[in-house]
Amino acid sequence: MHPFTLERPRDLAAALAFRAQAGRNDAPAEYIAGGTDMVQLLQEYVRQPERLVSLAGLLDNSVDIGPQGLRLGAAATMAEVAAHPAVVQQFPVISEALLNSASPQVRNQATMGGNLLQRTRCPYFRDVGYAACNKREPASGCAAIGGENRWHAVLGTSENCIAANPSDLAVALVALDAVIEVRGAGGQRTVALIDFHRLPGDTPHIETVLEPGEVVVAITVPANPAARRSHYLKVRDRASFEFAVVSAAVALDMDGPLIRQARVALGGVGTKPWRVPGVEAALAGASLDPGALRRAAALAAEGAQGHGHNDFKIELMQRAIVRAIETAGARA
Ligand SMILES: Cc1cc2nc3c(=O)[nH]c(=O)nc-3n(C[C@H](O)[C@H](O)[C@H](O)COP(=O)(O)OP(=O)(O)OC[C@H]3O[C@@H](n4cnc5c(N)ncnc54)[C@H](O)[C@@H]3O)c2cc1C
Ligand code: SF4
Repeated sequence: MHPFTLERPRDLAAALAFRAQAGRNDAPAEYIAGGTDMVQLLQEYVRQPERLVSLAGLLDNSVDIGPQGLRLGAAATMAEVAAHPAVVQQFPVISEALLNSASPQVRNQATMGGNLLQRTRCPYFRDVGYAACNKREPASGCAAIGGENRWHAVLGTSENCIAANPSDLAVALVALDAVIEVRGAGGQRTVALIDFHRLPGDTPHIETVLEPGEVVVAITVPANPAARRSHYLKVRDRASFEFAVVSAAVALDMDGPLIRQARVALGGVGTKPWRVPGVEAALAGASLDPGALRRAAALAAEGAQGHGHNDFKIELMQRAIVRAIETAGARA
């Protein structure tokens, strides 16, 4: 492990003054919350910051629910949010996404903020033995294009990076139009989660729209009639902890047997959590007839590009959408 100084600021203002930056391999200082991702990256020499700025005890960890919707403090753990009775009842897709993530031990430690900022599971990114990784080392190339890319993205890729975003939580939240509250030395602002993660483009090492020093302080999910009838379907290589090969988060607002409004987002297939508005538009007014669902789900493949080993994801993600909608639709 590369040596670093651990800073324990007395309050958030002092932490912000360090201008630590999440998701940037060229940042000399980074924040650490639960540490479940950061410590792995330090151990593997993927990250070598001079300073780690601890957020422990500085951020809100409450889970609040009211007429406006849900508010999750950035320090709330995955386990706390997944088990919260109101989340289970009113936002099942969030609870299911979390319970299908990681292991109980990790969920007890990992935070909401850290989950949204976790780094990709691309094996070439996580193994410094491979020189070519534009995300880890800008302008070094991409070993996954033309290499082992079974786990990689088919949507939102660039010629510089095809890494999939690993967060299950983010997929569920994007489906529900979540908003991120961000605080920096200059004040507070909000960012729609759909705009929070950046496409890789020419700069895959810059993963979010966070400015140096900014921290995620909370996540808000607006109240929505579709949230109760929601579901997270995760397809993975083994039933115990494993990242998504493909996942689908859906939420349905039904008008009798017809879908009034559907929200659909995909995981494991995009370089960022991926919403599919074309599918949603095709589902509006449709029944739960399997043929209609399959025709709508086929629109998710627009613009998708496989890289050999991951070609199967283009078909699998359509099937995941259909199955997730059938499960959500069967809910009272
Ligand atoms: C064995 C294992 C299995 C896993 N399986 C899954 C899975 O199936 N699905 C899944 O989604 N995840 C999975 N994960 C990842 C896990 O969810 C993340 O490691 C965890 O959510 C990160 O949270 P943390 O608080 O520990 O973050 P940390 O490790 O402390 O930090 C992660 C990143 O977030 C930044 N950061 C943390 N908090 C903030 C904040 N408030 N504002 C700005 N930046 C911040 C840090 O600087 C760092 O870059 C797994 C992890 C492990 C170890
Ligand atoms: S896909 Fe992205 S993270 Fe993986 S090797 Fe290529 S540049 Fe690096």
